[in-house]
Amino acid sequence: MTHVIRNFAAGPSILPREVVEQAAHDAVELDDVHLSVMEISHRSPFWANRMKEVEANTRALMKISDDYAVLYLQGGATAQFSMVPMNLAAVGERCDYILTGGWSQKAAAEAEKLGREVHIASSGEEGGFTALPQTHDLSDETAYVHYTANNTVRGTEFSELPEVGDRILVCDASSNILSRPLDVAKHGLIYAGAQKNLGPAGVTLVVVRRDLLERATWAKPTIFDYKLMAAKSSMYNTPPVWSIHVLGLTLEWIARQGGPEVIEARNIKKAAMLYEAIDQSAIFRGTAAEGSRSRMNVCFRASSDELEAKFVAEAAEVGLVTLKGHRSVGGMRASIYNAMPLEGVEELVAFMKDFEVRNG
Ligand SMILES: *Cc1c(COP(=O)(O)O)cnc(C)c1O
Repeated sequence: MTHVIRNFAAGPSILPREVVEQAAHDAVELDDVHLSVMEISHRSPFWANRMKEVEANTRALMKISDDYAVLYLQGGATAQFSMVPMNLAAVGERCDYILTGGWSQKAAAEAEKLGREVHIASSGEEGGFTALPQTHDLSDETAYVHYTANNTVRGTEFSELPEVGDRILVCDASSNILSRPLDVAKHGLIYAGAQKNLGPAGVTLVVVRRDLLERATWAKPTIFDYKLMAAKSSMYNTPPVWSIHVLGLTLEWIARQGGPEVIEARNIKKAAMLYEAIDQSAIFRGTAAEGSRSRMNVCFRASSDELEAKFVAEAAEVGLVTLKGHRSVGGMRASIYNAMPLEGVEELVAFMKDFEVRNG
């Protein structure tokens, strides 16, 4: 029996079929230049134009004003864990972190390692990061407040921005970027590794308020210098042309769907359907607290490790793949990013019901 494969991986993860097909075409030969997109010079007229297009689409979809620079960098979101403190806080200067899981812990650890004074404003660690902290003990004076918009591992997501007054808000939006509208003007900086909602691994989107580019008067590695990268339109050195091109194709796909508002409505529907199935089930239970549930990564458990292993294996046999939870927490995780169609979630829910009848 053959099935459409539904990929529930957390990242790298599902991309829209149309995007993958266009990327496959462009990998062989771009229509006008008759070269593979991987072979083309980043100093060519084609690429100069393509970068402009990708940036214009990023700005349009995210409603980014001219007060912000838009960068396409390498090193993943993990590079941003260092780049943010290196550029926004002097050595010894205080920066606040809201801890909602492993990613924000890693971000804070990097700032600490670089000699910045890390203040943990709030943490969900006591509850195993299954609920988002509701209040934050923010410093009066702080270089910025960092938060992770969606905790990919535990399946929690902020539905509203943390309230930080006039402090500079920095957001790791790696796993929910463009899955819902995000108020850029309320942030100093937003970053997102591409491989969850935007494209292939290898490029990280950074949106940074231009006045913040002037903060770092101290030395930092060239490749980690926002101001330099902004001045060179992310092309100080060779940019990841392939990853940026496919990110661009994904943005065009999002625009064709009707933009983040339409995408958000679909994501709400998909997540509601899956959580309802979990809540109604006698053998599955959701792990994230009610008000903290992610629309992107739905984490759930069954009554035993054996049953979970059986579920993951049998699901894969019918084409529902990569449902195993993150190795640090176990259980199951269904990542239902923008590119996962409603039908994929319907198939998963039908399989869960069938599995329950057979194993309940
Ligand atoms: C995946 C992920 C990261 C790490 O991204 P890399 O590109 O692998 O460095 C950081 N933050 C969040 C929220 C993530 O989901």
